[in-house]
Amino acid sequence: QDLLGRIDRLDGRLNSFISVTAEQALSAADRADTARAGGEAGPLNGLPLALKDIFCTRGVKTSCGSRMLDNFVAPYDASIVEKLTEAGTVSLGKTNMDEFAMGSSNENSYYGPVKNPWDPSAVPGGSSGGSAAAVAAGLVPAAMGTDTGGSIRQPAAFCGITGLKPTYGRVSRYGMIAYASSLDQAGPMARSASDCALLLGAMAGHDGRDSTSVARGVPDYQSELDAPLSGLKIGLPVEYFGDGLDPAVETAVREAIRVYESLGATVREVSLPHTHYAIPAYYVIAPAEASSNLSRFDGVRFGHRCEAPTDLVDLYKRSRAEGFGDEVKRRILIGTHTLSEGFFDAYYKKAQQVRRLIRQDFLDAFDEVDVLMGPASPTPAFDLGANKDPVSMYLQDIYTIAVNLAGIPGISVPAGFAGNRPVGLQVLGTHFAEAQLLNVAHQFQ
Ligand code: GLN
Repeated sequence: QDLLGRIDRLDGRLNSFISVTAEQALSAADRADTARAGGEAGPLNGLPLALKDIFCTRGVKTSCGSRMLDNFVAPYDASIVEKLTEAGTVSLGKTNMDEFAMGSSNENSYYGPVKNPWDPSAVPGGSSGGSAAAVAAGLVPAAMGTDTGGSIRQPAAFCGITGLKPTYGRVSRYGMIAYASSLDQAGPMARSASDCALLLGAMAGHDGRDSTSVARGVPDYQSELDAPLSGLKIGLPVEYFGDGLDPAVETAVREAIRVYESLGATVREVSLPHTHYAIPAYYVIAPAEASSNLSRFDGVRFGHRCEAPTDLVDLYKRSRAEGFGDEVKRRILIGTHTLSEGFFDAYYKKAQQVRRLIRQDFLDAFDEVDVLMGPASPTPAFDLGANKDPVSMYLQDIYTIAVNLAGIPGISVPAGFAGNRPVGLQVLGTHFAEAQLLNVAHQFQ
């Protein structure tokens, strides 16, 4: 009730929630009380949190930030929603996001932009900008996000919180509205690595309803948080400290790395030679998968339908023209083009081959070092409206996107400030190294 009051007072200014589900929250809180009274309460029992509006939640509007789904009430819960509910958590609502998770600033939402709580003239990052802002403003202690090309780590960095993108396949994608299925992964956004560890433990695990979810036990992510870091080998990818990196961001990140040296870690430079190709490869693969995934929004079965269609083609055309925003339309056009006959080999197939090389860069680096460190984003949060050109917006993703192409986990850890805007240190590990990333992040905090 206290947090619902806080949301009521403050979220008019931030716009971090699309829906506040007070009634459902109060009954979930009652159930948590009953569990506690009956001695059945787990560590997350009664914990208030928020869900990015990309996760289907039974009986609650699930918009994905789009006019297309403004009228969509999900008939079932996403896998992570089921698991978090079972753990006793209490969702207070659904957070704002870039439409269909396409964006790096939250300015592509049908529900309007979100303000960065540290500075209302700045964006919170995207696409999980509502989740990041809600946690940073203390509206909820934790929120769930998704990361297809940086959408947990970059907003976490811009808002000064901790955000973890797990290994692809670690967390079920069932019930999470698909953007680019081979890249999408859900993860926790919270104040600390230790909170993220608790939440990941509750979200992770095999799920037969997602064929890419991995059948592998879920470790106790809390138990390794305090492991000492002496002897840890840290690699700094030279490509992550080059042109375009804001000097104040670089200073904050390098100071954080010195803290690790003082904890007994050793630091050396490494190279990820194909980094330069990550943005072009991603912006072929992600739109291609998106154009296929978004073909289900046809105005027929659910979602937005135009008024008085004259025939089926008119129904498709106008429902989609009205339901989707500009960035989503741009991605559908790019994706349809690169998948079309005559272009498939030149674009999509080539991008998949490049993806393989990018993945190999990381595997080679992890033969030499335990973790990689660098900035989460080349700049701190930029001003609302400052990045109007789509390509300059895509360039924001330079340090985050290769991680999704490789399927490895990454975490953004608050590492100081550039002026009044937070800076995120990104830590990357090999597949299924989440416990190590959480340990490394926790030792800094
Ligand atoms: N900014 C990237 C994009 O627009 C990543 C988004 C994401 O991770 N969902 O595609």
